[in-house]
Amino acid sequence: MKNLQSNALQIESLVKTYDNNFKALKGIDLEVKEGDFFALLGPNGAGKSTTIGVICSLVRKSAGKVKIFGIDIDEDFSAAKQHVGVVPQEFNFNQFEKPIDILITQAGYYGIDVAVATERAHKYLKLLGLWEKHNVPSRSLSGGMKRRLMIARALIHEPKLLVLDEPTAGVDIELRRSMWSFLESINRQGTTIILTTHYLEEAEHLCRNIAIIDQGNIVKNTSIKNLIKQLNKETFILDLKGEVKDIKALDAYPLTMVDSSTIEVSIDKNQSLNHLFSHLTTEGVEVVSMRNKANRLEELFIDMVEKNLTTNKVSDNG
Ligand code: ADP
Repeated sequence: MKNLQSNALQIESLVKTYDNNFKALKGIDLEVKEGDFFALLGPNGAGKSTTIGVICSLVRKSAGKVKIFGIDIDEDFSAAKQHVGVVPQEFNFNQFEKPIDILITQAGYYGIDVAVATERAHKYLKLLGLWEKHNVPSRSLSGGMKRRLMIARALIHEPKLLVLDEPTAGVDIELRRSMWSFLESINRQGTTIILTTHYLEEAEHLCRNIAIIDQGNIVKNTSIKNLIKQLNKETFILDLKGEVKDIKALDAYPLTMVDSSTIEVSIDKNQSLNHLFSHLTTEGVEVVSMRNKANRLEELFIDMVEKNLTTNKVSDNG
């Protein structure tokens, strides 16, 4: 792996106000180091696609600076563009064209000659498991294949930075895993990757660093490792044997009855589950199964978003 040194992406005080006066980005700062695998995470409407749109100039920013490998997009967009490949959420290729033609046409936009373009198109179609379909109209590809075609198209000019907007949204588990290993392999070979996601598992599995965006603000920017260290609470769902009317509350363990045979309980990092179970036994309650309510990162995320909402409310009133 390369040393994480220079910035692949640097965003300063980025503001986007849409024509209807809606402020989708409220002055965000973000740095992604060369070689990183970076997640931009946030709920729907947080501002992720807007940020990606600005980076690749699909969305005009209202204020702020964006530099790609040190090149200011306002000063030399065509030079900056050479370094970035973008995979947007929607399939935006001509569905009547064949995959091979889509890739060669795309290469033409970057001034790549046809012989090189053809060789690369073959390489990426094979790497992404699309070779068998290279010569059929792309509308006959499955959803997962279309998504992979978008990735191949984004890589055809061999950019140093690959930006993917929700690459695995609606993609089944098996394909998600194979897409993950493909992305991991090109990252190992030196491509910096930024992806937006609202699958926390995806960020946890793939990424080294993370920024969490909510309502147009970056609410957290740290390494995944640090983020996980900050987790101090886990919520479990317990399925009970039979129907239970009421369970005496325990101060140390906030219990909620979800229904007559399910309870939810929050446990701090330093608490043991033994005490809870002996209490339930005393109460005559039998637990038949137990699972996490959400994954750990999700718990933290929910907690942070709630806090951020509170902060926003305070500042709105002030
Ligand atoms: P995300 O990708 O995190 O779901 P987006 O960047 O798509 O969020 O959207 C951020 C906010 O900006 C949302 O509230 C969305 O409704 C709003 N928005 C997006 N595009 C436009 C637009 N063209 N005009 C007005 N508002 C928009």
